[in-house]
Amino acid sequence: MALYKNANYVEKNDDKAFDATHEPGVQAPYAGIYKCITCGSEIGIAQGHVLPPQGHHPHAAGLGPIKWQLAVYAQHKK
Ligand SMILES: [Zn+2]
Repeated sequence: MALYKNANYVEKNDDKAFDATHEPGVQAPYAGIYKCITCGSEIGIAQGHVLPPQGHHPHAAGLGPIKWQLAVYAQHKK
């Protein structure tokens, strides 16, 4: 679970970008924190960088493959 201290730094948002799941090894559509929906492991990544590949971290036998989902979107000033 992603952690934070200052609640003023994060805001609830229901954008559908948070619903999509992404295969390992594809470009991250947004900068931020992504969660493996199979085991809960999290990574931070820049927009356009490649999400970690299958095998990035081990899963118990029978748990299923890595799939990434955006957990926290990092906003940039424009
Ligand atoms: Zn995982």
